Amino acid sequence: MKAGEKPSGEASLGTCPACRLGEVKITYTEEDVPGFGKMLLLTYKCPSCGYKVTDLIALEGREPSIYKAKIESPSDLQIKVVKSSSGFVEIPELGVEIRPGPASQGYITNIEGLLVRVEEAASVLRGDEEAEGKLEVFLAKLKEASEGRLAFTVIVKDPSGNSALVAEKPGKVERRPLSPEEVEELRRQLAGVAFEFR
Ligand SMILES: [Zn+2]
Repeated sequence: MKAGEKPSGEASLGTCPACRLGEVKITYTEEDVPGFGKMLLLTYKCPSCGYKVTDLIALEGREPSIYKAKIESPSDLQIKVVKSSSGFVEIPELGVEIRPGPASQGYITNIEGLLVRVEEAASVLRGDEEAEGKLEVFLAKLKEASEGRLAFTVIVKDPSGNSALVAEKPGKVERRPLSPEEVEELRRQLAGVAFEFR
């Protein structure tokens, strides 16, 4: 490994769960997330059907926690969002809930990038006559939020401890450990939908 190069590698994981034809390759890179620690970024890819899943794992033991941040100014949009495939994200003021599912991806972004992902997900409803009216109202609110004109709260929780909110400004992010009961409840919601290779 050359100096400055990130540790990385590749391995085969066997037959693709989507097409059952291709061979899924997993590639991994180590990434240092300042304020959180070292993480392993994983990409599962099938060359035959284009199936792709990304995920991340904290390499330094993380306590399953709930993180909360009040977004009140444009600079708060830079708060980092670390979300693994088992991470739950909520924005109560916008009625947004991101729950882990079979297509759940792991990613590192910031609040601004998170709102872009929410917009992309919501835009799927475009053209649906029933949803159209509500969607316009929602997207207008989302735009205000992304321009720092609407205060909102972002909550991140993960029973595996692989997700977090990370702010440069101390005290901006509230964290408390999840109770064993809360971990149990979130794991129950994950059961059966987590990404698995067998
Ligand atoms: Zn495939």
